Amino acid sequence: MLKLVKLLKTAKNRQKNKIEKNKKMLEYFELSEFDSPDLPNSSKGMCADFLQMIDNARGIAGIPFKINSGMRTIAHNRSLNSKDTSSHIKGCAADIHCNNSVDRSKIVAALIQAGFRRLGIANTFVHVDCDNEKPNAIWLY
Ligand SMILES: [Zn+2]
Repeated sequence: MLKLVKLLKTAKNRQKNKIEKNKKMLEYFELSEFDSPDLPNSSKGMCADFLQMIDNARGIAGIPFKINSGMRTIAHNRSLNSKDTSSHIKGCAADIHCNNSVDRSKIVAALIQAGFRRLGIANTFVHVDCDNEKPNAIWLY
């Protein structure tokens, strides 16, 4: 009888572990939002630290982050005339849609508060990455 109880408990714990393992990792994003458009599920190659940080930043900003571009295959990156050294290929970058100064202020402030130190500001997006092979920088397009 004791053995049966133990077995049932083990089964219950296994189920519990399974549920926790499948729990959504990100609060504000579906992983697929970071897919390279030419390769389904390519967002699996995204850096886990990057995803956690951008998810935190989204929470701090309090406004939606529309991801224009996340992971990029070399082919997709080249089609955008971007260099092969792009942090998007490494899976540690994203471009967040933004076309007005108020949202830009919220997004940039939240990214910095979340720990990002590499930002690129364009008219219609904010690039962010956590590429530790590159220096801290804020640039314009
Ligand atoms: Zn970018």
